[in-house]
Amino acid sequence: MAHTIESDPHGFKRRGVLFVLSSPSGAGKSTIARKLLAADPDLRMSVSATTRQIRPGEVEGRDYQFVDLERFREMVADHAFLEWAHVFNHRYGTPRAQVEEILASGRDVLFDIDWQGAQQLFQIAGGDVVRVFILPPSMEELHQRLLNRATDPIEVIDARMARAAGEVSHWDGYDYVLVNDDVEKCFESVRTILAAERLKRSRQTGLIGFIRHMLKTA
Ligand code: 5GP
Repeated sequence: MAHTIESDPHGFKRRGVLFVLSSPSGAGKSTIARKLLAADPDLRMSVSATTRQIRPGEVEGRDYQFVDLERFREMVADHAFLEWAHVFNHRYGTPRAQVEEILASGRDVLFDIDWQGAQQLFQIAGGDVVRVFILPPSMEELHQRLLNRATDPIEVIDARMARAAGEVSHWDGYDYVLVNDDVEKCFESVRTILAAERLKRSRQTGLIGFIRHMLKTA
C-alpha cells in the first residue's frame, strides 16, 4: 500500500504513517487518541465498523460504524476491510476506503485497534505502520478505571480484565511500549513518537530530489 503525502513545512512529499495505538481497554488509549487528534490537524482517525451494541455517549460514525452481523459479513465478502478480527465475541474491522481517502488527502491515519489488527496491518503495509502499545500502571489500576467508567455491566468488566492479560502478553508485537501512569506525559511521549516517525529517512521520499540538487550546487 504505497502512498505519498505532502505535509512537512517545506512541502516535500513523504510517505504517510499508519499510526496504531493498542492497549487493554481502560488503559487510557481513547483519551490519548482524542488529545492527539485535537493537537494534530495532519492526523485523522480510522473509524472502525463493529457488530457490538452502541454504548451511552457514543456517536454513530464518529466512534464506530455500528453494523449488524449480516452487513459485517457482506463487507468482509466485498473486501471492504483492511483487517478485521473477533474481539469480546464481536467483530471489528478497519474500512479500507476510509484509510485510502485519508492518505490521499495528505494526512496520517490513527488506528485504535487490538493486537490482531496491528499484526494484520503490519503484514499489509509493513514499514508504513508504527505500532504503539499503552500499558496501564497496574492491573488493579486498570480494574479501578473500568469500574469508574461505569459504562459496562460488571460481567463485561470481568471479561475485559480477563482479556487484558492476554492483550498485554502481545506487547512484543509493537514498536513502542509506554506505561500510562500520567496521561499528560504519556500523550507527550506518543506525540514525540509520531513526530520522530514522520521524520524517518525512509518516509522522506520527497527529499531525494532536494538533496541531489543541494549536492550539485555544493
Ligand atoms: P471497544 O468495544 O472497547 O470500543 O473496543 C474493544 C477492542 O476492539 C479495543 O481493544 C479496540 O482497540 C479494538 N478494535 C476496535 N476497532 C477495531 C478494528 O477495526 N480492528 C481490530 N482488530 N480491533 C479493533
